Amino acid sequence: MADNGNIKFLKKDDLTKWLGGINDRTIVAPTMENGMVIYRPVIKLDSLDLELPRPKRAPKDFFFKETEKIFDFKDESTKSGSGAKYTQPPKPPEILILGVRPCDGRALAFQDRIFLEKNHGFVDPMYKQRREAAIVVAQACDRPERNCFCTSVGGDPSSPEGSDVLMTPTSDGYILEGTSDRGEKFLNGPDTSDLMTDATGDRLKERDRIHESNRQRVPRKVETGNIKEKLEGNFDNPYWMELGRQCLGCGICTFLCPSCHCFDIQDERTAEGGRRFRVWDTCQFLEYTQHAGGHNPRPEKGHRIRNRVYDKFKYTVDAFGMVSCVGCGRCSSLCPEAIDMVEILQNVGKMEEGSQ
Ligand code: SF4
Ligand code: SF4
Repeated sequence: MADNGNIKFLKKDDLTKWLGGINDRTIVAPTMENGMVIYRPVIKLDSLDLELPRPKRAPKDFFFKETEKIFDFKDESTKSGSGAKYTQPPKPPEILILGVRPCDGRALAFQDRIFLEKNHGFVDPMYKQRREAAIVVAQACDRPERNCFCTSVGGDPSSPEGSDVLMTPTSDGYILEGTSDRGEKFLNGPDTSDLMTDATGDRLKERDRIHESNRQRVPRKVETGNIKEKLEGNFDNPYWMELGRQCLGCGICTFLCPSCHCFDIQDERTAEGGRRFRVWDTCQFLEYTQHAGGHNPRPEKGHRIRNRVYDKFKYTVDAFGMVSCVGCGRCSSLCPEAIDMVEILQNVGKMEEGSQ
């Protein structure tokens, strides 16, 4: 986070002027489209509305795409026999993404650990390129959704985690703080510095009051301190099968989850060559764990929904030292069967430790 000398203030009326001066990257922001709020490139700055509700889909698609080509290949004859010529997709465009909710920013910080930490396996070049091409501006969240519970899982509605700049809307403008090296450099760049003043004194007090008020607005709370221990003792608890009977196995909860990161790699062949691409996958589908020999270690929906909860609250804690649910509440709000993550956590909390 920036020290006080590097926290900026931008007047409300100067927002479009500031953004209008950013010519080297595409500006993406929450946009109302066919009755749904979604991240889209901003075509007209006058229509920018930073008071729209949180987009239904998290911005993870800008970094880890739902479908992404890895390379094209073309069959070729060579002196030594047949071969193939590979072409990689062009570099991703530079973007500035505005209005990212701090829960979704925090999920990006988790995705960074999955895709960028070499000691966990492999640095993903496509994710890395997209992440480096983007400036993520998180917006301190003063309008939580009905199922938000970020503060119960270590988050905060004004958290800077995973973002480059934290923007706090105030009564007459915006306080902007560089929260990464890239963000600080950007805020001090020639495109921005003319319009901004240093935020000090009363402005910082107002920011702190807003952040405290945002914290108080988070509507749902659940105790999660002992969830991992409870899960460790309840892998075979009949609760998981009961939950599985309610679940449709549609995968919406995982596709809309900002921290879910599973994918499958597929090849598509044409007469002259083909392409390799990756697509999002989900542990809620039967095929996800289907072995070539026919065995499936998670044949029931109960096994699969159990995996989703264990992944968020135990497996990623073991592997990365962090709960990977950011409490955005999307899975609860958008599950067609109203299966609710907070209720699951409450039920797990009531389980006996070590009961099966
Ligand atoms: S969204 Fe609901 S019904 Fe669909 S897989 Fe997830 S828990 Fe099951
Ligand atoms: S598990 Fe549900 S509440 Fe947690 S981050 Fe994913 S979608 Fe949000």
